[in-house]
Formats: sequence, C-alpha cells, structure tokens
Amino acid sequence: MDQEAMTEIGRRSFLKGTGLGLLALLADPGRAFSKIQVVEDPLQEYEYRGWEDLYRKEWTWDRVQYVTHSLGCVGKCSLKLYSKNGIPLREEQTATYPVYAIRTPGKYTYEIMGKPRGEYIRYGPGGKIPSFSPRGCQKGCLYSDWMKQSDFLKYPLKRVGERGERKWKRLTWEQAFDEIAEKIIEIELKDPGAMVTTSRPFSQLSKGGSERFTGLLGGQLIPVSAMVGDAYPGGHTALIGRVGSTLDDWFTADLLIGWTQNFTAMRMPDAHFAKEAKDNGARIIVVDPNHNVTAAQAADLFVPIRMGSDSYLAAAICNTIIKEKKYDAEFLKEQSDLPFLVRPDTKKFLTQKDMKPGGKEFQYYFWDTKSNQAVEAPGCLDSPADKKTLNIARLGLDPALEGRFTVRLADGKEVECTTVFEKTKEGLARYNLDSDLVREATGLHPSVIRTMTDWILESKSLHITNGYNCQKHYDGYQSERLKILILVLTGQLGGPGAYHQTYEGMKLEGGRAAGGLHFPDQPARPEFGIEKPIKGGKQPYSVGIAYEVIYGDSLERTKKYFANTPLKEQIGFDANDMEAFLKDAIQKKYLPSMKPPRISLWHSCNNYRNKTGQQSWREHYLPKVELLIGTDIRMTSSMQSCDYVLSAATDYERWDIRETTTNPFLTLYGQGVKPMFERRSDWQIYAGLCKAIQEKARARGIKSIPFEYWNGTRQVKRTIDLSTIYDEYVQNGELDSDEKAVEWHNLKSKGIGKEGHEKLVRDGYAKFRGPAKYGNYEDDAPARSMTWQVVQKKPSGTNTGRFQFYVDHEYHIKLDQMTPKPQYTDMWRGGPQSPKRPDGSPYPFVMNFPHTKWGIHSAYRNNRWLMRLQRGDVYLYLNPKVMAERGIKDMDMVRVYNHMGEWFARAKEWPGNPPYIVFTEHGWDHFMTKNWTHYNNLNCEFLNPLELAGGTRGHIVYTGNHTSNRIYYETGVDIEKVEG
Ligand code: SF4
Repeated sequence: MDQEAMTEIGRRSFLKGTGLGLLALLADPGRAFSKIQVVEDPLQEYEYRGWEDLYRKEWTWDRVQYVTHSLGCVGKCSLKLYSKNGIPLREEQTATYPVYAIRTPGKYTYEIMGKPRGEYIRYGPGGKIPSFSPRGCQKGCLYSDWMKQSDFLKYPLKRVGERGERKWKRLTWEQAFDEIAEKIIEIELKDPGAMVTTSRPFSQLSKGGSERFTGLLGGQLIPVSAMVGDAYPGGHTALIGRVGSTLDDWFTADLLIGWTQNFTAMRMPDAHFAKEAKDNGARIIVVDPNHNVTAAQAADLFVPIRMGSDSYLAAAICNTIIKEKKYDAEFLKEQSDLPFLVRPDTKKFLTQKDMKPGGKEFQYYFWDTKSNQAVEAPGCLDSPADKKTLNIARLGLDPALEGRFTVRLADGKEVECTTVFEKTKEGLARYNLDSDLVREATGLHPSVIRTMTDWILESKSLHITNGYNCQKHYDGYQSERLKILILVLTGQLGGPGAYHQTYEGMKLEGGRAAGGLHFPDQPARPEFGIEKPIKGGKQPYSVGIAYEVIYGDSLERTKKYFANTPLKEQIGFDANDMEAFLKDAIQKKYLPSMKPPRISLWHSCNNYRNKTGQQSWREHYLPKVELLIGTDIRMTSSMQSCDYVLSAATDYERWDIRETTTNPFLTLYGQGVKPMFERRSDWQIYAGLCKAIQEKARARGIKSIPFEYWNGTRQVKRTIDLSTIYDEYVQNGELDSDEKAVEWHNLKSKGIGKEGHEKLVRDGYAKFRGPAKYGNYEDDAPARSMTWQVVQKKPSGTNTGRFQFYVDHEYHIKLDQMTPKPQYTDMWRGGPQSPKRPDGSPYPFVMNFPHTKWGIHSAYRNNRWLMRLQRGDVYLYLNPKVMAERGIKDMDMVRVYNHMGEWFARAKEWPGNPPYIVFTEHGWDHFMTKNWTHYNNLNCEFLNPLELAGGTRGHIVYTGNHTSNRIYYETGVDIEKVEG
C-alpha cells in the first residue's frame, strides 16, 4: 500500500476494518493482509471539527505578566503568568537572571591585626558564581491551579452562627467596611490601642497595609518570626539582628554545614548553589536526626545527631579547637569580646563605671600586653567617636586572650579580673568530643565529631547555615551562640566564611521603614506634648510571644505538661520559674506593654497552625477578643473562627513587591489578572476600612486620642486620629492606588530608584544596589553580612561592638549562662527532654515536625496535585522497626497522644527516621485532620528566661528580634494503631 492510500484510512474505519479483518483472519489465516481496502475519510462524518483545536487552545493566552509568591515563602522567584480572558492559565519560571558575580581581582581582600589575609570570596572556574536562573519550585508552578480550588475566598463574609460554627452570610464590601468600622470605633474609644495583629505575607504592600492600618489604630504586632519559633534571640546576643547572605554565597563555601537545614527539599530555587559549590570542590556536612534528602543526595558527611542535643556537638567542637590551640588568636583579639575583662566578684564586665567616677556603662576593657595594663577597648557602644573602630593594630594595641590581671578600681579596691576567653574555655572544658557526656547526649561516635572538627579546621571558607528549627529546641538559644563561636574561633565569620540564619539577613536599606509603606508618620501635636513630627511614629509596636502566653493562659497548661518531669534538675528551671521570670520581666519593663486583644486582625495568617496547645489557646484567648477580623485568600482553619472574613486578592491579582532576602533582586507582583469575583488587594481592603472609620469618626465629631505605650526601652507618646485615618493611610492621595504605592516605595528606596523601578516593571525583577540593612549589595559578588565589621573594622551594634560571647544580664548570671555552653545540667544525659506520663514513666517517642517540601507552611498543603504525590491524607513517618514492633502497617491510621491531647495520621514507612522519633512534615491545616485534631495540641509553651532579658540601653533589650521565641520542639508522645 502506498503512503497516499494509507493516509486516507481514518482512525474509526481503521479500527472497524482491523476488527473485521481479525475475524476474517481467524476464520481464514491465509487471507491475511491480502484484501485491505482504502475506505472513505471518516473525519467527514464529524460536523464539528473544532475538537482538534481544543487541546491546542488550552495552551493559548492573551496576556503574560511577571508575578511572584508570598504566603511565607522567602523565595521570591520571578515567574511569567500566562492568562486568558482574565483567568490565570499557567506559570513559567523567569530565566533571565544574569551572571553578575564575576571576580574583580584584588577587590575583596581584607586584613586582621594589620596583616593581609587575601581574598575572602571564593569564585568558581572562570572567576564566576552561577546565576539565579531559573528560580522556582513545584508549589509556585501550580499556584494558578491551586487558586481555583474551592477553599479560595470569593466574597467578604460575616459570621452568623457561633464562632467557629462555620455559618456565614455574604456581605458587600460596603456592608463589611461599615460594620467593622463601627465596631472598631466603639472599642478604640473604650480602650485605645487594644488591638493585636498577626501578619504573615512577605510583601511590601500586603504586609505593609496590615501593619499601617494596625499602627494607625495604635495596635500591637506579634513579630512573625517569634510567632512561629523562627526568631534568633541567642544569635542576636552575639551578632545583633539578623545575619545571612544572598544564597549565591553558598557557592563560595569550601565547607558548607547544613545544620538541621534540609536545603534540597526546603530551598528548592537555591539548592543548586550548594551542589555547584560541591562541583567546585566543596564538602557538605548535614547535621540532622533524620537522614533527609540533602543528606542522601549531597552530604559528604552525615551527622545523625540526637534530636535537641546540638549544643553538645557545637560545644565539643569549640572545646577541641580551644584545647588544641587551633583558634585564630589574632581574629579573636580584633573581632570578638573574648579578650575583654570580667570581674570575678560581680561576674560582670569590667566597665568604665568601675574604673572612673561618672564612667560609662558600655565602655569595656582588655589587658594590653604592650603597655601591660587594662585599657579601654575601642569600638564599644560608649567609646568616644575617635575610637569607633576595631582596628586595634592601628591604635598600637595587643590584647591578652588568656590570664588573670589585677586591676585597681575607682574606689581603690583591687580585683583580679580574667578574660571572656578564659570564662568560655572554663565553661566548655567538660565537653570533650570523646567524653561519655557528649556521646550520651548526641548519640555520636567521637570519630564523627573528630572528622567534622578536622574539616572545619581545614576549611578556608566555612559557611554554617542554621536551620529555623534549631531555635525551636529547648537549647536553641545556647546552641546558636556556640555555632557562631565555631565560626569566630576559626576566623571565618564576616571574612571568608559566613553564618546564615536560614534565609535571613539581606533586606532593603532600613527595610520597611525606608519605604514608609508600613509605618506612617506622627505629625507634631504640641497640644498633646508632641513637639516635632516623628518619622514612622505611628508604627504598631511589637510584642513577643509572651503576649500569646499571657492572653492564652498558656503557662497553666505548661505546668500540667511538665507536672511529672524533673525539669529543674535537668535544665535549671521549671514551669513555675518560667512564670516568675515572666512576671519579673514585665515588672522591670524588660518587655513592652501589652494591651488586651479586643480587636484581633489575622492577616493572611493561619494562626492555629502556629500555636502550641492550639485547642487550649483558642478556648482561653478567643473569649477576650471582641472583634476578630480575618483577611486571607483562603478559608483556612483559622479564618473559620473569624467574625468577618475579607476576601483578599491572590498573589496573581494584585500589584506588590517582594523585598530582598535570599537573592539580591526586588521582585514584582505585576497583577497578572484583575481580581476575580469580589476580591480586593490587601492595600485596598485596609484603605476601605480606614475610609469608613474616617467618615464615621468625622460624622460623630471624634477628636484625636492621646496614646502612650512602653516599647521595651522607652515610653512612646503619640495620637490615634480616627477622623484623619484614611488621609494618613493614603498620604492624602499619594498612595491611594496599588501601582502608585509600589512606585512611591521604589523611588524612595536608595537601592532601587527610578532606573530600578522601570526595570522591575519591565523585567519582573531589579537588582538591589548599595547598603542594605545587614550588609552591602555588591555589583560583582554575593551580599554577605558582617563584612563591614570584619573587613571595614566598623564596630557592630553589640554592646562590645564585636562578636559578643559574654552576656552579663542578671538573668544570665542567675542561670549561670553568661558564656556559650549547653544550657542543660548534668542530670540531662542525652536524648530529648520529654515530659513524663501522669504515672511518672517516660514517653517512648519524641515528635518532630520540621518544614515540608509539599507546602509553604499550610499554604499549598491541600493542593490536589501535591496531595497525589503523597498519600492524599495527613501522614506520619515511622521507622520500620517501630512499625513491626507495634503491628503498624503502611497506610494504617495511627493515634499519636500524650497526656495533653491526641492527633491522627496515616503511617508511612521511612528507614531514614530514627526509631525514637515520630515525624510529620508541618503545615497540615486542621480541616484536613481527623476531628480537627492537630500535632500542636500535644505541645506546650516553653519560655527560656534568657530570652526575656531586657533593659533600656544596649543590645540586650527587647527588639522584636531579641524576644521570647516560640519554643515547642521535643514533645514526648506514644502511638497506637487505630481503625480509620
Ligand atoms: S512558592 Fe516560593 S520558591 Fe516556589 S516558585 Fe513561588 S516564590 Fe519560588
């Protein structure tokens, strides 16, 4: 048969023919293929031929625009959104990021104590660092699909049943604004500023709108990091604030330690930098209790540490480096407080107050070996302007690291001071890497710690990335200080090496304040004692997790949780002490003032997911809330409890920008499509609420309300002005549209400007330039925190102006935790700190629930496609040995319980999970779980008193970064198979 004849055979006739032919063949095999006929074209039978184009048309579009995602994701990848008739169809990663980090010989050199150290950026072959192209992850690439699921909100809703009963009435925006405004005015007049907001999304307008609205009402803000346990208060004591690098800096490592940092799964757009570093000769160490995917795919050394014992491992490494005298003494003398003198009698730093009448509190001393006397260290917080440098070589100083030195005080008394280095050495002396203490605690063979230590010492460019979960452990505070000590002992931090607080650090200059979108100004009001305008003076003030503990009555639950646990013997304080420290911190004003949550705003924040003891918290906290407003894109479990649910535009329906953290680019949300249904952008929702409040306040002749609060360091005076709240929100029309607000922000920003704004709108991203909040954006190198201290010798913001390892706050002295060392006592002999059952017996398992690769927290967790890739249900990883012992098979329903609660999940076998851990990736929404149970019902609130330390000056004060963190890991549990 020729080709032409063959093409005339249609699909239907062919099938028909072959069917009949087969029968004929069966009847007479000798006729095979001899009588095949050309028949009519069957396509002629179809009247409608458009079906052929359906598939093709599915892939056509009428608009392409640049977008990105928020919902707690730090990735801020630029993607192109393809849409048709105003409906998002699909997204595609932007792949135009340039290779910008190209070696400029000699540019990145530095010296220590006047001696050249060479270049501190390690470039790849050809003098280049790979580009960020393309960026994305599987969640972001199905956002257009996910946003069509039925849980996405379409209209404003009002609760008509009891809270949480899930009975709703649809409202118009005008009705919603009108009713909410009325209630806000009543509460504000009764109790000004009695409002608290939790705000999750990472974007300037969305988050900025909620914070601006809260600030104008005198409300409080719970810092998002503390709310979920991502704050780094321990690191703050050593470094101040947040530090990190843009993640292309991972490439410059020759040793990258992922410390509880599963970056292959959790940082998909940037994990390639670690793999490329490996191609460039780097080693990777993964420290984690679980043999996670990064350990499996990338690690040269996997360190299977017992959960929650990281401080022991870090202490053993520091102790080894000190004992073997392998530390970088010159670096320590110039860049750390380790040579500073400490008084033995008070356990405090020797200060100018001790040495001179009228001396200053934050002027410290070291022993200068050249002049053989105690001298004022330059670069301290109270050092004079001409001594604001760490360049001690230029000043001709050479401090002693070790020894005891007699110093005569102003009152004539002589004291024998020692150094912070000596105190640190003493505190770490017990933690030998081959000691029973370390081995029992960590479960690690000494050879593993030895190898890790040797690799650290061999490294010329050590990067430690400290996962968010480290701080959620009971010893997270000290464990972080010890990790920073490793980097400083080896002379790495801020020079050739770097510390990455997960994905923190590099932000726009002054962050939100520079843009001004978050914090409106307080105009001068002499009649209220406010003489001058205050820039950003109407910002919401920040309260720590102590707020939720107090208004959720959580410590009562903590006492029950630890009732049978010898907590004090093991860690030095118990639940009653936590309460006493909290009361003391409030009484001494170490913490900010806290007003009750009469108005609560949950802005894109699935609050229940974050809470420890969520059911109990809900029962105690919600009755104190008179008005609960939720603004979100989805009907999450938390939204189901709100009085009003405001339907926010999704990431594809609004204009916005995402500031910098993981990469050096400002990224655009370019409103891929207009808001569908009756959604509005967050910026417009809060503008609408302000407008309604202003109109009503004017109609009622409401005057300005004087308002004062304690922010943790000082008393702030300001006004709440309901009659001008809209004018202030939109700055008299300057910010009344989202596009105008984005442009206004960018033109104000030194790092973006007009040129950057135009590029952003044209290309979806623009590279940030110049000084940033915690470092500098270079033109030809990754941005890395702390180089300004180490390379440029500028003092940091710590009290000592350096990497600081001694804290002489009264709480640290009381608990003997001045230097970095494990916080536990000798009674703690390894393994997680778990509560006992009511009968006093220990629980056999500990619960672990780190970040998930299948969602961004609870976002995307219910996406139909992602669920298909898992089990389609809430699941729990168990070790096969445990499953065999307990008669549990894969997919069986398991009840996880302790004396505080229970939750249910399907068993999933994972040999990489140690037998003593029950493991689920976090982010399950309550509505996905059986009976709305959740793993967080089993946890309790744990307060580390060290995180409550405050004051009015220096850096050991309440800052929002230095605050009580949410600590909730290491929950003791048991499991059993159940039907279901
Ligand atoms: S969800 Fe985050 S990591 Fe994933 S594509 Fe979007 S911005 Fe990137």
